[in-house]
Amino acid sequence: MPSHKTTIQIDGSLPRRELRRKVVDQFLKEDPGTGTGDNTSRYTYYVEKLQDGSRIYLTRPAYLKKGFDFRISVEGKVFLTGRDYPKHDDIFEDLEKKKQENPTLYKKLHKAMIRIWNCEEPSEVLKDLNALEFESGFTVELILKTLKWFLIEQDIRDWNYSGRGMFKSRLDKIAYLGSLCVVCGKIINRLPWHCPLCEACVCPLCAYRIENLRCPKCGTALEV
Ligand SMILES: [Zn+2]
Ligand SMILES: [Zn+2]
Repeated sequence: MPSHKTTIQIDGSLPRRELRRKVVDQFLKEDPGTGTGDNTSRYTYYVEKLQDGSRIYLTRPAYLKKGFDFRISVEGKVFLTGRDYPKHDDIFEDLEKKKQENPTLYKKLHKAMIRIWNCEEPSEVLKDLNALEFESGFTVELILKTLKWFLIEQDIRDWNYSGRGMFKSRLDKIAYLGSLCVVCGKIINRLPWHCPLCEACVCPLCAYRIENLRCPKCGTALEV
């Protein structure tokens, strides 16, 4: 059975439900396989192109060989797997290094990633970043475009839950743990409340006591 390769374009600014529908609609067009090995129906979908010319692609079947699962790869890169497909930890470890390298720039990157999480298209978000660069690790472009697909993967895999939400709490932890509470001054070691406007962090204990749930620094209503 031949393996199929196609390029597809999925606009990352679609709402979550539409994003998921577009991707699954594509998979529904696949021929069923007739067995294992040569009888497997195999598909490669090129979904993003990076500035250096390498492409991000999805392959099916994925590891677990189940349902709508897919694997995300980046041509010409080597990840923790020793191959060209990253694990979530490839991204998280890379982000930790970037935060250490430059905490100020990292705040910008974190905001950009939250925009992807909120279903904005990476190519649009990148335009606002003015060539944000770090010395360490992957390019910001690779991070944002891979993140888009990890989040779609989570939306499909955790169909009725929010895998996307778990991914965000990891991102928030990397961004905010270790910063200082603006009320008590202690180091924050649990996911804090943070002000969406001034980025001030309030430790869970102080947040519990804050009046009117307003940012103690700038007065904005806190996200609960
Ligand atoms: Zn505190
Ligand atoms: Zn604030």
